[in-house]
Amino acid sequence: MKAVCWMGTHKIETQTVPDPELVNPHDAIIKITKTAICGSDLHLYDGFIPTMESGDIMGHEFMGIVEEVGKDVTNLKRGDRVVVPFTIACGNCLFCKKKLWAACDNTNPNAHLMEAAYGYSGSGLFGYSHMMGGYAGGQAQYARVPFANVGPLKIESDLPDEKVLFLSDIFPTGYQAAENAQILPGDTVAVWGCGPVGQFAIASAFMLGAGRVIAIDRLPERLALARSLGAVTVDYSENDTDVLTALKDLTGGIGPDSCIDAVGLEGHSTELQGVYDKIKTAVMLETDRPVVLRQAIQAIRKGGTVSVPGVYGGLLDKVPFGAAFGKGITMKMGQTNMHSYMKPLLERIEQNQIDPSYIISHRITLDQAPDMYKVWRDKKENVTKIVIDPWA
Ligand SMILES: [Zn+2]
Ligand SMILES: [Zn+2]
Repeated sequence: MKAVCWMGTHKIETQTVPDPELVNPHDAIIKITKTAICGSDLHLYDGFIPTMESGDIMGHEFMGIVEEVGKDVTNLKRGDRVVVPFTIACGNCLFCKKKLWAACDNTNPNAHLMEAAYGYSGSGLFGYSHMMGGYAGGQAQYARVPFANVGPLKIESDLPDEKVLFLSDIFPTGYQAAENAQILPGDTVAVWGCGPVGQFAIASAFMLGAGRVIAIDRLPERLALARSLGAVTVDYSENDTDVLTALKDLTGGIGPDSCIDAVGLEGHSTELQGVYDKIKTAVMLETDRPVVLRQAIQAIRKGGTVSVPGVYGGLLDKVPFGAAFGKGITMKMGQTNMHSYMKPLLERIEQNQIDPSYIISHRITLDQAPDMYKVWRDKKENVTKIVIDPWA
């Protein structure tokens, strides 16, 4: 089959590789009908996530048709149409029982690599390094899906792929970000980063009752999408714009009730701290550039909530923990507990409360993927979301 492979930092190639096969009795093989490139794939492209190996198949947002199931798979059969969550959960461990699916104890065979860095390991993820399980990703024609009784969500209606594909990651991730932000009716919510997760965080914040959402980015096409959802926008790249001042001005000096960092570890800043982070990450004295996290902690009102859906990988410097303590804020974060959100959000799509396909800007083939990684990284061609048809 054809697959998009990581061949080294900034080196992505479309290759012909062996088809996946059933390994465990609880596996399913999915023939992929649509897949996508995620913002967090750029952290692999840019070499920020360790334990990638040459030839690893990329991608964790995919859906398709069940091709084959292992003998223990009872919830799915050949021909079923499914969306697959990017986190892999066993459904049986202590954490799955608590519905902390992303903390599953049984699905990362390389947990020891995570434990060395984090103390404990989370669940395995598709296409996201060997430290996260070494599972082949979904930017391919087929994928092996372990624990197939637990993860894949059946799509029984005839909704087109593009309307349901994002249940695999970014819609639930944006929704959990808004839920973690503890929004009360009428609240003001600030969202940094108007990429796909930021877009769904904005939409979800309104669904959860936010009175006003302030969206912060620098790319006109993303800011326009945020405005189309009803957000007020702040373009931080404008010369006289200071984000903290802008947020104070918009909130009568009080600060937003909730701040959502949908940017994560590769934050950009033209200010002095941006230069500082660039130098420190270059010499490995810091692994992440927490520009947005710093701003969110400083901007949040006293007693407010900072929610972090953006991926962070390791060690952060100059995070104003004194401000966090001094203001008595709450911080909520973490990988998305996908399995809890997919079905309720599918219902919202079925009821026409949201059409997630509005963010798609590019529809491509597997062969076009290597070039599109670069376009996506550099935010050229007004790119907002790339969807791949593996059979085109
Ligand atoms: Zn993702
Ligand atoms: Zn589990």
